[in-house]
Amino acid sequence: MAQPTIQNEENPYEAMLYRFDVAAEKLGLDPGVYKILKIPDREITVSVPVQMDDGSLQVFRGFRVQHSIVRGPGKGGVRFAPNVNLDEVRALAAWMTWKCAAVNVPFGGAKGGVICNPKELSRGELERLTRRYMAMIMDIIGPDRDVPAPDMNTDPQIMAWMMDTYAMHQRHAEYGIVTGKPLELGGSHGRVRATGYGVGLMTREALIRQGMDPKSCTGVIQGAGNVGGVSADALYNMGIKILAISDVDQTIYNDKGIDMMALKAHLREHRGSLEGFKGGERLDPQAVLTLDADILVPAATENVITSKNAADIKAKIIVEGANGPTTPNADKILEDKGVFVVPDILGNAGGVTVSYFEWVQNRLGYYWDERDVNDRLEKIMVTAFQEVCGMADREGTSARIGAYMLSVERVAAVHKLRGIYA
Ligand code: NAD
Repeated sequence: MAQPTIQNEENPYEAMLYRFDVAAEKLGLDPGVYKILKIPDREITVSVPVQMDDGSLQVFRGFRVQHSIVRGPGKGGVRFAPNVNLDEVRALAAWMTWKCAAVNVPFGGAKGGVICNPKELSRGELERLTRRYMAMIMDIIGPDRDVPAPDMNTDPQIMAWMMDTYAMHQRHAEYGIVTGKPLELGGSHGRVRATGYGVGLMTREALIRQGMDPKSCTGVIQGAGNVGGVSADALYNMGIKILAISDVDQTIYNDKGIDMMALKAHLREHRGSLEGFKGGERLDPQAVLTLDADILVPAATENVITSKNAADIKAKIIVEGANGPTTPNADKILEDKGVFVVPDILGNAGGVTVSYFEWVQNRLGYYWDERDVNDRLEKIMVTAFQEVCGMADREGTSARIGAYMLSVERVAAVHKLRGIYA
């Protein structure tokens, strides 16, 4: 097998480009369209001054990147974290382009971020930071331009502040400006659970494809936040025994299976933290990745499965809940081992799909119940799974490259039809 050409496997934008290149070459992508898609359409860096509670002024740095808006308004979350950087936001924006195309929702790809540590900010500081960031990016966003959503460390309350800031400038309520809002403010039923619920659907489809019975399978989950917590519950509901779940500080392992009721009660109170959870033995946070289990769901962050640990992974199926958890160099190792990987741009697409439903409901002014949302979500994700696997089987590639090929082909087709405005 050819050696991977990627130099810096942990640079997320290089990782994205590597897979894009492989897909583009296999598709024989038009060289002009290739050049357009290689570079984000637009990226802005903003400075975000915030009056702190002690009277001092701090200036934070924020980003919004629109990778492609050719298929529809940009769509992508906003991340508040100390290690946010432009390359990461660029990669996340491009992944959104491919993800929206993979599930065929009419959005392009965008992403935002602010370099900050939300744990060190008071609620008032967080609100002022959110509102000023929104004010700074307002020129390039809008329900028909670019629609932000939550990501790491941003939640429905932060979306409510973003929506309100926009509404104050427009002089009227505009619900379709962000998704992931609270229900009372035009949010959608099922949005909070959508990503983890989608991970469950993709796990079910992967098991069927691999001829495995969920009731005789074990699973482990990295991440105990929104995606990890709901994914654990979704797998458990399919009869899979959850042996371990982790957060940034620890893995909790129980060979008899984690008590899901106790875990859910703990996570409701501790928001993504397992600190103090007594449901099993406490191991190193990274231990979760290489435990002996049939299914692994990385649902925490980027670059956790790399060339350094991929060979030690025991799982037969990996369903990526996080964005970019596996590096291209690790892909090769997993492929050689015969591990079936549901790639992030399909595995965690439940979130953006229900964000699309939220936006549709906002524009209609007509709201669906949770069952309606989940039924529509299942239809879209199962279709996407079959289309991705169909492409991978026809082309003899991994599901990841199959997903990239399907997505790049869809985006390229729109570019061809629209042509270039000169
Ligand atoms: P979250 O903040 O709710 O939870 C993150 C969890 O990961 C926490 O339990 C945290 O302790 C753990 N974690 C953080 N850094 C870690 C590290 N270095 N090692 C191990 N564990 C670590 O975030 P979330 O919304 O659940 O998002 C998790 C991932 O899923 C991110 O990659 C995000 O981009 C992706 N994602 C989220 C959504 C969504 O709807 N929330 C949708 C698509 C993709």
